[in-house]
Amino acid sequence: MSRPLAMIIVTKPEATEEQVQHIIDRIKEWGLKAEVSRGALRVVIGVIGPEDSIREKPIAAIPGVASVTPVLKPYKLVAREFRGMNSNVKIGPVVIGGEEIVLMSGPCSVESREQITGIASAIKKSGAKILRGGAFKPRTSPYSFQGLGVEGLKLLAEAREETGLPVITEIMDTKDLDVIEKYADCLQVGARNMQNFALLKEVGRSKLPVMLKRGMSATIKDLLMSAEYILSEGNFNVLLCERGIRTFETYTRNTLDLNAVPVLKAETHLPIVVDPTHGIGLREHVASMALAAVAAGADAIMTEVHNSPELAKSDGEQALLPDEYTDLVQRVRKVAEAVGRSV
Ligand code: PEP
Ligand code: MN
Repeated sequence: MSRPLAMIIVTKPEATEEQVQHIIDRIKEWGLKAEVSRGALRVVIGVIGPEDSIREKPIAAIPGVASVTPVLKPYKLVAREFRGMNSNVKIGPVVIGGEEIVLMSGPCSVESREQITGIASAIKKSGAKILRGGAFKPRTSPYSFQGLGVEGLKLLAEAREETGLPVITEIMDTKDLDVIEKYADCLQVGARNMQNFALLKEVGRSKLPVMLKRGMSATIKDLLMSAEYILSEGNFNVLLCERGIRTFETYTRNTLDLNAVPVLKAETHLPIVVDPTHGIGLREHVASMALAAVAAGADAIMTEVHNSPELAKSDGEQALLPDEYTDLVQRVRKVAEAVGRSV
């Protein structure tokens, strides 16, 4: 089989609904995949299939087709032109990628029932829409706390039950997918696994949305190519997360690369999340970087909050206290309004 190719069909503004449906039917009849995005004036149909097979089809001859162009970028399905508009990704009932900037928050690790439900209700009161918490933790040292595992997932599901907040949690191993799917609403692929291609393919076959975090030494293009692995397996519900990269600077934990936000918004239709907590790693500066991320165009902000950071089993030095989080949300709201968004 020849290598896969992606083509973009743009319909004529005057194309009828029947014509659009006919285009889609014809594409499928040819054994190709069609990904349909409906704009106000025209419909964009992304076509994927083996290069030989696509090239020999007279796509431009189908009534209602205005143009047919190949995606020349190395990442095809994640390229902005493949959709021609922003994608919305739903986590539970929460939509990311629209006008509203979505706040995700919670502790680095799930530690106990009291801890996770306490933090979940506090962040909900402040305005968070999604609860985060690690059950399987990727720790630099094998001797550090590794997370509560399945018990942690159950506690997250209990916290969702109590607060109504959908839950995002990290997957580190393909063998955990079934159990995580049972309890969570969104999968997180962490920085350390951004190029774990077996894992990317596996989450690409999941019914859950995936938040892919940028690897600490990964370029923007590497991040987009990793996302392409997930979409190429059929899962288009992907969020990209900038969480800081390694540079020569040692004062901060990482260097939050806010350049990536406008660049990614231009390159891809996928929603962009910024994690200022891991990006800077210092509690007192997290809020400033959250504000900057909103100004730069982020669609969601992920932050770590803990009710007792000094007792946290991981990342206590960067977690905000619930009161500090409330203050952050109020300030984020003002910047969001200034850039034509809401929180
Ligand atoms: C986390 O979100 O707690 C985490 C481990 O993030 P990262 O993969 O970005 O280090
Ligand atoms: Mn953490």
